[in-house]
Amino acid sequence: MPDNENAYEVEYAKQLDKQDQLASYRKEFYVKEDRIYLDGNSLGLLSKRAETTVLQLLDSWKNYGIEGWTEGDNPWFYLSETIGEKIAPLVGGNPDEVIVTGSTTVNLHQLVATFYEPDSKRTKILADELNFPSDIYALQSQIKLKGFEPSEHLVQVRSKDGHTLHEEDIINEMKDDVALIVLPSVLYRSGQILNMKRLTAEAHKRNILIGFDLCHSIGSIPHELSKWGVDFAFWCNYKHLNGGPGGVGGLYVNKKHFGKHPGLSGWFSSKKDKQFDMEHVLTPAEHAGAFQMGTPHVLSIAPLIGSLAIFEEAGIENIRKKSLKMTQYLMDLIDYELSDFGFVIRNPKEEDKRGGHIYIEHPEAARICKALKAKNIIPDFRKPNGVRLAPVALYNTYEEVWSSVQILKTIMEEELYKKFKNERGVVA
Ligand SMILES: *Cc1c(COP(=O)(O)O)cnc(C)c1O
Repeated sequence: MPDNENAYEVEYAKQLDKQDQLASYRKEFYVKEDRIYLDGNSLGLLSKRAETTVLQLLDSWKNYGIEGWTEGDNPWFYLSETIGEKIAPLVGGNPDEVIVTGSTTVNLHQLVATFYEPDSKRTKILADELNFPSDIYALQSQIKLKGFEPSEHLVQVRSKDGHTLHEEDIINEMKDDVALIVLPSVLYRSGQILNMKRLTAEAHKRNILIGFDLCHSIGSIPHELSKWGVDFAFWCNYKHLNGGPGGVGGLYVNKKHFGKHPGLSGWFSSKKDKQFDMEHVLTPAEHAGAFQMGTPHVLSIAPLIGSLAIFEEAGIENIRKKSLKMTQYLMDLIDYELSDFGFVIRNPKEEDKRGGHIYIEHPEAARICKALKAKNIIPDFRKPNGVRLAPVALYNTYEEVWSSVQILKTIMEEELYKKFKNERGVVA
């Protein structure tokens, strides 16, 4: 922020929007002009390109019937592979290391079923106490399936401040009874980025396999999974990648593991040219495709086809640059305008540790979020007292960031939040 008062005026925000080289993408999205959407880290907005590819997919069904598996612009039989190739640059993987399949939770089950091979010495899975519950439930159930007690065999690294993790603390837990490590790339609450390169190197020094949940980083920050030697990763495509509610997720398996038999097999794990031989002995694909199970949810992949074209064009480096600028601007405005109202910024402030959203806390957070929604600003409440705000590079503007903080200030000054109950909704 430049060191002058004008920097907090709306003209400054307008200036930033004028200079913004990604500004033209906003009109490709269904943004409502009377609403400020800051929840793209939970569910990204629909783009016109995504809408078009959904309609095209319906057309291929209309026109081809069963032949659509092999005919048309996007033959369904190869879709998981071809769209996986398009996602590969976003995670820094080789084209055949990425497949579009399943969902975050399903893919985590698949990867743990494949890579968690406890022996007489190594029986534990290392995770953290701040991860999203679904990941923890999946790990607990996988440990149970192997005949172990989750309370003993799932080690969850503690957070010192309840918001962030120290890489040293994680490394200290990489003991010789750990078989597998599963961590988030970006923590879903505080938005902290974990140093995946360092953690992978430390895990491998100790002969431990390591995988990451990329839900909150894919489409928001660049990755170099193959360069870092990460063993596997998984994610959903409906957050920053705008792939639509319930859209199909993705996974990455490092090529050093190609040939490994999938823990959970199905006929779509097959080598493509063998699949319809209908043999009762599986010949798995010799790439990430082996970690699919059944028929792909083709209709739920369709929006991703259009959405990824935008990412390819805009470039993840440019997206990250703008995202950092927007989150910095938002933090500067919060500091300047809201310092009297008891908000605490809990996300890490350093650029290499800050993901795509800002996380602030306030004792009245639940009803402050309701007051924001009543004013047509869409934040994201996280129990017990957190508010996530994600200015998204592809469709939010600096002026929206400015307006959001002004409106939040009015809500606090006029105590408008007091009209609401301080409780979360069913979907918070
Ligand atoms: C969004 C999210 C999920 C959601 O999992 P689904 O299987 O898509 O329901 C899981 N883990 C993390 C870390 C997430 O951010």
